[in-house]
Amino acid sequence: MTTTNTLSAHAYAAPAAKAPLERTTIPRRPVGARDILIEIKYAGICHSDIHQARDGWGEGIYPMVPGHEIAGVVTEAGSSVTRYRPGDRVGVGCFVDSCRECDQCRAGREQHCERGMTGTYNALDRNGDPTYGGYSTHIVVDEDYAVRVPDALPLDVAAPLLCAGITLYSPLSRWGAGPGRKVAIVGLGGLGHMGVKIAHAMGAEVTVLSQTLRKEADGRALGAEAFHATSDPATFEKLAGTFDLIVSTVSAPLDFDAYLSLLKTDGALVNVGAPEEPVSLNLFSLITGRRTLAGSMIGGIAETQEMLDFCAEHGLGAEIELIRADQINEAYERVLASDVRYRFVIDASTI
Ligand code: NAP
Ligand code: ZN
Repeated sequence: MTTTNTLSAHAYAAPAAKAPLERTTIPRRPVGARDILIEIKYAGICHSDIHQARDGWGEGIYPMVPGHEIAGVVTEAGSSVTRYRPGDRVGVGCFVDSCRECDQCRAGREQHCERGMTGTYNALDRNGDPTYGGYSTHIVVDEDYAVRVPDALPLDVAAPLLCAGITLYSPLSRWGAGPGRKVAIVGLGGLGHMGVKIAHAMGAEVTVLSQTLRKEADGRALGAEAFHATSDPATFEKLAGTFDLIVSTVSAPLDFDAYLSLLKTDGALVNVGAPEEPVSLNLFSLITGRRTLAGSMIGGIAETQEMLDFCAEHGLGAEIELIRADQINEAYERVLASDVRYRFVIDASTI
């Protein structure tokens, strides 16, 4: 049986840019032949939610229901669905559709769809209707844009993997984090702490570059062999020319010249942070040492499944602080203050 009516779900939404999030009701499309209806159990709070809810990247669509780290259970499957059945544990990440035909989609890089992927929220779907994210009780998605959460991963610690996990797994795997490679992770927040866990599990020698030494014990427990404060200028002298790979997860503009100087010859700095302001760069930082500065954005569906399977195999979930939905606004302030250990996750039963 397929539900033909529009569903009504509870959600937390930002009614306007910079306004606090509040409880509301949103429509979810009827469950189509290829769709699954998911009862959301947990939703992670990504710093991107805050950038967008506060319109830091511009062109926000309001009311906005953020949330692209979704873990839940299938409660209904459309008539043509082949992969999922009611009761299955699934996740949804940053996008819920793409053209499926372009070179990028065909190569499994749907996040780089040449016609533009459809964001899980703050986007318009094929019908021109706004998409609403995971701070909600239910979501309806095409089965092709869901992934399976392995049984070994509890849903609450799996939720953040749908963005933070894949955003670090993808560049670490593409740029060869592994045995014999020195990898630095800049910023020990939601993304950064998964970067430390994943790079360590891949066999790399991991260093954390954090603003202060406050999180040092945590960083080492997560798998880092070294931890340095970037507020100390001596750090940049000491570590000059040290790393094969640096991944920056910092949400604010950085002095990229300083971080590039920490790379070995032919090393690469991959930036995944998405600050609201531009940064400047002295191109000599790249010419010298034939260094690479690259970017990376989440990952495709198949790669996200690969990441979840890798995390299950290595017992890697996120370190989370579970919150009620009425604590979202407070959690946002704490993320902005770098006071998150290391991901806030909303218990969707409190929405
Ligand atoms: P987060 O939990 O707030 O972590 C960011 C960390 O950056 C902080 O914990 C802090 O680490 C460091 N930091 C913050 N402000 C800083 C400053 N002014 N100078 C130096 N370091 C600073 O955020 P997140 O959820 O991990 O997201 C990080 C960024 O990645 C955001 O901009 C987000 O939008 C972006 N993002 C990108 C992708 C992608 O696909 N590329 C995906 C998801 C998110 P320390 O306390 O250790 O210094
Ligand atoms: Zn995210």
